[in-house]
Amino acid sequence: MKYLKIPALFLLISFHSIAQNNSTLETKNLSHNAYVIKNVNIIPMTADNEVIENATIVIRDNIISSVNSDSIPKNVKIIDGTDKWLIPGLIDMHVHNLADIRMSSNYPTKGATLFFNNQDFMLLYIANGVTTAFELNGRVEHFGQRNEIINGEVMGPRIALAFLIDGGNSGNYANTASDGRQTVRIAKQQGYEFIKVYSNLNAETYKAIVDEARIQKMKVIGHIPTVFKGNTRDAFVPHFGMVAHAEEFSSQTDRYTNDVAKEFAKLAKDNGTWVTPNLSNLVYIAKQARSLDSVRNLPGFKYVHPLMQSKWIVSNQYNKGTSPQRVAYFDSLVDFHIQLVKAFKEEGVPMVAGTDSGTSGIVWGISLHDELKLLVDAGLTTKEALTSATRLPAEWLEIDDRIGTIETGKFADLVLLAENPLENIKNTRKIEGVFVNGKWIGKERINIMLSELEKKNDLNKNDFDWNKRAEY
Ligand SMILES: [Zn+2]
Repeated sequence: MKYLKIPALFLLISFHSIAQNNSTLETKNLSHNAYVIKNVNIIPMTADNEVIENATIVIRDNIISSVNSDSIPKNVKIIDGTDKWLIPGLIDMHVHNLADIRMSSNYPTKGATLFFNNQDFMLLYIANGVTTAFELNGRVEHFGQRNEIINGEVMGPRIALAFLIDGGNSGNYANTASDGRQTVRIAKQQGYEFIKVYSNLNAETYKAIVDEARIQKMKVIGHIPTVFKGNTRDAFVPHFGMVAHAEEFSSQTDRYTNDVAKEFAKLAKDNGTWVTPNLSNLVYIAKQARSLDSVRNLPGFKYVHPLMQSKWIVSNQYNKGTSPQRVAYFDSLVDFHIQLVKAFKEEGVPMVAGTDSGTSGIVWGISLHDELKLLVDAGLTTKEALTSATRLPAEWLEIDDRIGTIETGKFADLVLLAENPLENIKNTRKIEGVFVNGKWIGKERINIMLSELEKKNDLNKNDFDWNKRAEY
């Protein structure tokens, strides 16, 4: 997005985990255990989405083994689901995860000097029912994080990884068609599943990247390169699979009208391109442009690593040099994005929920619930909003045979809610517990972990100052 620079902070990694030995043991034991959730109302999020009332669901070794079967295995852990609602684990289609970093000068073999505890921010996903996340600026370190989660050292979501390619001269860049194609092939060899195209690509390189990704069977998500402004149609080439922000459209025009919104929706529809509206992003940006109190008062701010807390305050790119004109501009984008979502809906462009979490003022996990609420406010039904964070993203990621709905044989990625989210989308926040990676994490445990994290961040607060980062 136009105002977003990829911070160097995403460059790194952590192999730390809390209570590593204990959690590994626990995972091993639990993976052989079975669970039953009794008397629960299942919202399966299948296409017909018939709610199954007072159901019994059996989970064995991380898989949903039966729904309303007569045979209930013995020696199971029983979870009472009376008057509660079960939805598939939520999917955030746009995240940026922290990774360990060195910001001071380098020498060969130096490596990172600042280590993040992966469990700390992964906890925020789980605490908020997010069991799958799509990292849109994947680095080699993120493969390590994903492995830690898979082998049970860290409790966290499933992670899909996209390799970001931009034009210009920083990061993974390509400025010719042949360089673009080679960069895609390297990404494929390194194990990435997806390609993310970025704003500064030239037209020829962009098209070559999208075409090479087609050949390599990698789906493409990303920005609409700036060069296409005034010629947006040219960016909609076959195999451009997903636009990563509504803002990509608003950056392509100076006319924020319904007619323009409809034209864009038609372009996406005709090309089979999906959209991650990411409405919350611009809403947060407009708030940050108004006042930094919007960041300080975020409900999840206390859970954010102190260095990031410091960065979001002392180096806030939206608040720096702000003016009433700038605030008004952001507000006009917020309004136009609502028109875009209405147009996408009318045209039948599939939309998925994504947050850009990890960027300034956007907290992992919790922000997805803001996004769902904004999608409903923009005209989606509660069912459509839930679909945008469950079945549809699973389909786009091509893992819909494993996650995205509650059906026998799928992974038991599940969120138990105290109240029905189809009645009010805000009920997605009323989480009683989450099933992830074969484990049941109840509300009590989540709250204990969150309050420990809050205490730790508070204790460490004075050790981190973004302005002194060159010393770290
Ligand atoms: Zn992003």
